[in-house]
Amino acid sequence: MLENLTAQPADKILALMAAYRADPRDTKVDLGVGVYKDASGNTPVMRAVKEAERRIVADQSTKAYTGLAGDPAFGDAMIDLLLGDTIARDRIAAVATPGGTGAIRQALELIKMAAPDATVWLSDPTWPNHPSIIKYLGMASKTYRYFDTDTRNVDFDAMMADLGGVAAGDVVLLHGCCHNPTGANLTLEQWDKVIALLQAKSATPFIDIAYQGFGDGLDADAAATRKVVAAFDECLVAASCSKNFGIYRERTGILMAVSKTADMQPLTQQTLQFLNRQNYSFPPDHGARVVTTILTDPDLRADWEAELEETRNGMLALRKQLADELRRLSNSDRFDFLADHRGMFSQLGTTPEMVEKLRADHGIYMVGDSRMNIAGLNEKTVPILAKAIIDAGI
Ligand code: PMP
Repeated sequence: MLENLTAQPADKILALMAAYRADPRDTKVDLGVGVYKDASGNTPVMRAVKEAERRIVADQSTKAYTGLAGDPAFGDAMIDLLLGDTIARDRIAAVATPGGTGAIRQALELIKMAAPDATVWLSDPTWPNHPSIIKYLGMASKTYRYFDTDTRNVDFDAMMADLGGVAAGDVVLLHGCCHNPTGANLTLEQWDKVIALLQAKSATPFIDIAYQGFGDGLDADAAATRKVVAAFDECLVAASCSKNFGIYRERTGILMAVSKTADMQPLTQQTLQFLNRQNYSFPPDHGARVVTTILTDPDLRADWEAELEETRNGMLALRKQLADELRRLSNSDRFDFLADHRGMFSQLGTTPEMVEKLRADHGIYMVGDSRMNIAGLNEKTVPILAKAIIDAGI
């Protein structure tokens, strides 16, 4: 049986991580995988997470199963964090999932059950796992243009033109904030226009939000998601706690499915729980419990928010330092977009050949589409990267 297997495409980002580890140069810079790193290159356990874990270990009296949706308190805390009181709670079905990826996977399975003929629209570019899972599930997808490689900003006219081709019942996947891989984001006015267009097309929005708190702040980063949820009868929201709680390996995420009316919620909820049961039964609990503990304890929550704010401001400072350095070295403002982008990533907008040159000549590792993890930089490596970009003639 196993001899019938054919090799699956390797994950490019994970391959890049391995190449970085094997590089003997001590000046190498890792801007590859999407993991936050502090100035010393570590991915720390956040203070509030440590304290929540201490309390959980001390107080937990059972490891018995929770429910198929996970602990309901986690659902309530996450809905509150992401949506606030935007819509009535009784319209929202929610299940805990293994990470944001699990939420995306379950959302796609839900779409496949409810609308087997729907096309799922993805931004070009997007996080590569989006098209990969869609293809794996045998679903139809199309792309809409998103990034202008000249301005390194959103190509809004092209995006709207392509979304003009959305058919009634199609699903449009949008990054709630901090677009991965580009770092370029819609303004709230542009969100309004996208919402109006998708409403006119009778499409269903599907928000993937993996970086709430990494862009402009917890509420600002949720603003677009709240607008969408408020505007549509139905929508899907997949959220990840990996980045903003720094609990990547705990696999903590949530899928929310908003129904038109409260009486439709139980069927949606039951279906989501069924999907959890088929795929992995009960979702992981530890990370979700950590998140709930933090969000429901005022002191822990304040400390988490403060540390997240430090993280966010640290990334913004690196963006500014890099843009300033490139402005000085290039004698132009053509890299100012780096300070305007938000989140962990920026797409430099250069060719795979240039990306390879930066790796070979300077030991700078970024993904082949020129996505850089800004959090992989520190004050000392920013000038090295800026000089390498100019030396390479980018
Ligand atoms: N969506 C996007 C856009 C992402 O960048 C990521 C993480 N790379 C995820 C979802 C999922 O993250 P995780 O499964 O690790 O929670």
